[in-house]
Amino acid sequence: MNIYADNAATTKLDIEAFEAMKKYFLDDFFNPSQLYTLGRSTKKAIDQSREIIADCIGAKPENIFFTSGGTESDNWAIKRFCSGNNNIIITSPIEHHAILNACDSVKDISKIKYLSVDKYGFVSEKSLVSSLETIDEIYCNDKKKLVSIMMANNEIGTIQNIHRLSKIAHKYGAIFHTDAVQAIGHIPINVNEMGIDLLSASAHKFNGPKGIGFLYSKNKDLQVYHNGGLQEFGMRAGTENVPAIVGMAIALKNNILQMKKNMDYLNTLTDLFYKELNNSKLDYIINGHLINRLPGNINISFKGKTGEGIMHLLDLKGISISTGSACDSTNQQISHVIKEIRVPSEYAEGTIRISFSKYNTEEEVIKVAKTLINVISL
Ligand code: PLP
Repeated sequence: MNIYADNAATTKLDIEAFEAMKKYFLDDFFNPSQLYTLGRSTKKAIDQSREIIADCIGAKPENIFFTSGGTESDNWAIKRFCSGNNNIIITSPIEHHAILNACDSVKDISKIKYLSVDKYGFVSEKSLVSSLETIDEIYCNDKKKLVSIMMANNEIGTIQNIHRLSKIAHKYGAIFHTDAVQAIGHIPINVNEMGIDLLSASAHKFNGPKGIGFLYSKNKDLQVYHNGGLQEFGMRAGTENVPAIVGMAIALKNNILQMKKNMDYLNTLTDLFYKELNNSKLDYIINGHLINRLPGNINISFKGKTGEGIMHLLDLKGISISTGSACDSTNQQISHVIKEIRVPSEYAEGTIRISFSKYNTEEEVIKVAKTLINVISL
């Protein structure tokens, strides 16, 4: 029997979402831009999905723009923010590559600043304040500023204090974007209470279909993503992926309805896992913060091991987990997140990420822990 414990990579599709999507593939496949009755019915499905999604994050439907997923939403926020050039972007060095590489691609036309993080992966509020103050001094408050900090880290699960960070950003007149791809559907989010101006989301991380996501944009801070028809309020042209949009809305709503139950259950699973590991004599470090972290996320570094080796040994036993390092055959690279939180070098290479979901059972969790202990003790 295979055990899937890599839910931070992607999740199983919600069955209700799947059932609802079928109708829009096979029966109601009409182009939502057409004005006849059939076209209007698919347009209605999009509108209703937009309302459901907006409601899930305390937003207005007209502020939700459908995209192809987290990568596109992040690229849109970074590259098409305000005039698109001559801006200042402040971000953290532990963001997903969708943010880091998007920032890198605009470094010749915008100034990019990276904030420091502590050993848990929390972004330093002090460094945000001093960055914003320095920028205002140098540029006399003359530039558009974007602060982009992820809500929850995809490797170590650390959840940032978004409310405090956005408050600092706003004090200095900056726009606040958060990559909430790992967080949405898993922890409570209200864009107004948290002071979020722009938010990226991806359906396949919350039991929705792949290839669909959205960008929330509170104000008119965005430029058009690409040109063509008038879809997405003229901001992102192209015929809409109606089945995926419908599936995303149902999956998000269902996850939010069951959120408290899922969070409690996942915390029970991770406690069970740590209990097993504590009973072993293995030499390891738990990365990230123990409390402010995504439910079900476990990130551990084992002394003198390689994450890739552990991943393959577990794979041979039918268990799928992820490594904390990006490797190729000649080069063992420590992930940028593990480097930035300064995991000691003798542990860093032996980093793995396990991410359980509501579909994992207690028996599976115990099996993963026991098998891990066995393969590490080899
Ligand atoms: N941002 C974060 C934090 C992620 O974890 C991911 C995917 O792993 C992405 C962005 C990219 O999302 P997508 O796979 O939908 O493009």
